[in-house]
Amino acid sequence: MRIGIYGGSFNPPHKGHVEAANKAVSDNRLDMLIVVPTGTPPHKDLPLGSPSPELRLEMTKNAFSKQKNTIISDIEIFSTDICYTIDTIKKINSEYPDAEFFLLLGNDMFDSLQALEWKDSEELLSLVTPVLLPRNIIPISSTELREKLPLRDGCDYISDVNYSLIIKNRLYGAKPNWDWLRDKAHKMLDPARVPHVKACEVEAIHLAERWNADIDEAREAAILHDITKKLDFNENLCIITSHGEEIDELKSGEEKLLHAITGSLLAKSMFGMSDAVTEAIRWHTTGKPGMSILEKIIYIADYSESTRDFPEVEELRRKAKNNIDDAMVMGLEMTVDDLLYRGIQPSTVTYGALYDLSKR
Ligand code: FE
Ligand code: FE
Repeated sequence: MRIGIYGGSFNPPHKGHVEAANKAVSDNRLDMLIVVPTGTPPHKDLPLGSPSPELRLEMTKNAFSKQKNTIISDIEIFSTDICYTIDTIKKINSEYPDAEFFLLLGNDMFDSLQALEWKDSEELLSLVTPVLLPRNIIPISSTELREKLPLRDGCDYISDVNYSLIIKNRLYGAKPNWDWLRDKAHKMLDPARVPHVKACEVEAIHLAERWNADIDEAREAAILHDITKKLDFNENLCIITSHGEEIDELKSGEEKLLHAITGSLLAKSMFGMSDAVTEAIRWHTTGKPGMSILEKIIYIADYSESTRDFPEVEELRRKAKNNIDDAMVMGLEMTVDDLLYRGIQPSTVTYGALYDLSKR
């Protein structure tokens, strides 16, 4: 049996790793590939926001999950000592005594091994055949990726499962790519609601510019504000309990408020959103006393975006441009009137928000 061994830090693993390994496997007619993510020596500084060994192992497994005859070995990754390849090879060799081993290496490593610069190089070369990994099939490195991720870039080079993991855990200081985030959010919506959410994003950007708020946070909150809107009562309750939250007994008509709570919970647990963003989602239907500018922006953007069509909407938009608190009062009062008209008791926080704004 011909076994390839592919070591690397895989921090993070990306499509370039997988493609290069694939090519090496077929070029060298390997029967099996053992991927060995390296450990972290105690003195080595990891790049900022690097995952735990457990998470890096999980990501490496995910990255290679569609590759046939490939296993991911944890032989090195939990070690805090320096692991020498010779020791790793000997261990693997003892598990597969009849196999022929091929060590997959990038250019620099390949040259330094040929120059006998490794620990026990000669013995190592008696145990393995070095194989040069093909370069530039997908021209990206983990270092470049770590630079791209905080700039909302790089998601095309990473499997979707791993990109989701990176975003949810905010590894490497990553921020979600806009198209990726929008795509994820829109897939969670009833298709009929997509135009509303798109328009809400546009309006949130305008309002954030007008009121000197954080435009990125406004966009994130707008994109995600209704992600649980199509779920029914029980599905919403499930999300709440699975996040360890409790809610008071709901009065009739208050079921509609649940999507704001569950939306904010998922914005955090699925997309790693900041408290500022999750709070803006949390209060987008009821308002609350002491709202931040971002919370007001999302409340008003939701109410007044360009697809909204009701008699007072132009006046609401005008107020939102001139004085956002006036717009808040108008929106909250309309909500109270509408609920009372439908025989539903408005939420106490909505009255609280109105009272708070009346004291200005
Ligand atoms: Fe909503
Ligand atoms: Fe909405």
